[in-house]
Amino acid sequence: MTETPIAWVDQDVEQIQRILGLNKTATAALSGENKYLLFSYAPRMIEKMFEKAQDHSLQQYLALACWEGLKAIITGNNPVGALVVVREGGIEYIFAGHNQAESNGSKRHHAEQEAINAWEDQDHMKLMWKRKAPNEKDNVILVTTREPCAAYCTGRILTTKVTTSAGTKHIDTVMIGTKDTEGGGMCDGRENSLAPAFKKKWAQLGLRVITTDFDNPNAEGFVDDEFEGFLRKTYMLNRFETKDHSTTPTRLPLADKFNELPLEYSHGMLPDIERAIRKIK
Ligand SMILES: [Zn+2]
Repeated sequence: MTETPIAWVDQDVEQIQRILGLNKTATAALSGENKYLLFSYAPRMIEKMFEKAQDHSLQQYLALACWEGLKAIITGNNPVGALVVVREGGIEYIFAGHNQAESNGSKRHHAEQEAINAWEDQDHMKLMWKRKAPNEKDNVILVTTREPCAAYCTGRILTTKVTTSAGTKHIDTVMIGTKDTEGGGMCDGRENSLAPAFKKKWAQLGLRVITTDFDNPNAEGFVDDEFEGFLRKTYMLNRFETKDHSTTPTRLPLADKFNELPLEYSHGMLPDIERAIRKIK
């Protein structure tokens, strides 16, 4: 990506900021090369990826997830975007989420977690797309630009279930843009180190994992090989800019935060529960 001269202009920056709903301070600190990548090269590649894709293909979903991933990069987070694609009664609903773990200082904001939260909460604001499903079969697909992490997301993917009047749903398919040999938990045997209960769950769900295939046009995970480098370079980067970026919230020292509470304080511990039971009796 460095071989192309930096050609972005302020107008591009403003336009992308507007589209992505970002503020100026978040992007002001980016270096020229990264600005070029974010505001010129990456959006163009994503657009091409989307245009050349078949409807409901991994390439099309990945283009949407990559777009979501740009929001993560731009706000100083590891570049991961994710979708939960719910097919229900012939309609497809796509919920989107991007990684905000670094800027919020908490792993509960990993991209997959954000997308699953949006699905669980039926969050209107995170519903990216509603359209006709490719068939009448109900299922739920999690799409992510990077292999879900072993530490937090793999377990959530396996254990999430959402019950509505249409029934109880779980994720039955995971589609992955790039493998993560360092922290991933779902590909190339890394899933073998899951706890036995999770392995059992995996088998019960009949969970399918589909990874990108840049060679075989008939493969379910087929993605045009012109996007291989883009996916690997852009979405396997670990944090774009400085390690300590200004958006990470600083929390109060516990002594300040809980100053008001008496030195001996408890809430919801066993004696409280016993007291509550006594009161009921
Ligand atoms: Zn994760």
